[in-house]
Amino acid sequence: MENSDRERYSRQILYRPIGEAGQEKLLASRVAIVGCGALGSSQAALLARAGVGELRIIDRDYVESSNLQRQTLFTESDAAQALPKAVAAEAHLKQANSGIRVCGIVADLTPENAAELLGGMHIILDGADNFETRYLVNDFAVQESIPWVYGAAVGGTGATMTIVPGETPCLACLFPEPPAGSHPTCDTEGILGSAASAVASIQVAEALKLLVGDTKALHRKLLSFDLWENRFQAIDPGLPADDCPVCRRREFAHLSGDRAVQITLCGRNSVQIHERRRPVDFAELASKLTPLGTVRSNPFVMQFSVAPYELTIFPDGRAIIKGTTDPGLARSLYARYIGS
Ligand SMILES: [Zn+2]
Repeated sequence: MENSDRERYSRQILYRPIGEAGQEKLLASRVAIVGCGALGSSQAALLARAGVGELRIIDRDYVESSNLQRQTLFTESDAAQALPKAVAAEAHLKQANSGIRVCGIVADLTPENAAELLGGMHIILDGADNFETRYLVNDFAVQESIPWVYGAAVGGTGATMTIVPGETPCLACLFPEPPAGSHPTCDTEGILGSAASAVASIQVAEALKLLVGDTKALHRKLLSFDLWENRFQAIDPGLPADDCPVCRRREFAHLSGDRAVQITLCGRNSVQIHERRRPVDFAELASKLTPLGTVRSNPFVMQFSVAPYELTIFPDGRAIIKGTTDPGLARSLYARYIGS
């Protein structure tokens, strides 16, 4: 290691579980961050400063002023320019640490590009805002034996679990199916920045343990907490499920695209999301969305307008999103307002 690095990372090298040997491993490591919102921006900043040699940041969204309360990488100028988060993140991280490789990729992670974007990574960190992406990451990580760290935060709550394929249960062992119906998101329930930072901090600590090879230090729990209500919970997830379709039967339905929701362009300025497995309770969804925009509904269809977009939602979960022709943006709006 060069002397400048020895100085730069001295406080982390002094930390005995890492040491100089651990720092060498970090500098030779490659980590992918899927989603660069609140979780992803905290993860990326911590990992870049810790000296992880290569960071790949994948995000489909752009910076908005409502992100700045918790997405600590971004600035007012990023929001004013509506920069893609992956682009803004790369620029800021390079300023924080010019000695590592940072690559921001503006993309929606899909079954088609998962191997290209995640292949060859040592660890994948979950900063996604939707379950479709998490199940895709789980499939790919199990198939390729890459550890990944699940994380989620909404309101004052957070949850995280570390998945080491072949050793620990995977996401599908615990939850064979993604949650059905609409569910709380940061855009409908709000979020405490500190809840997201807490999850990201635990995820990054787990990533560092894995990267330096100290796997006995992993927490090996499904951790969850509510920072406002002061509840902390650690559930032992046990062994991988005997009948898990992913890590036992090795059926990668999300990765093969069998489970991917079809998205088509419709009309001049609309995208249709052909979801059919997400029955929506209009009354419940209307009460969540009314504070955020204009809601009109009857038993057959619900319309939610939030300028410049209009979401038309059907009872089975299908939706037409008007105001864009970008499938990634349409998926993002769906995940924000309806669930994922
Ligand atoms: Zn499993």
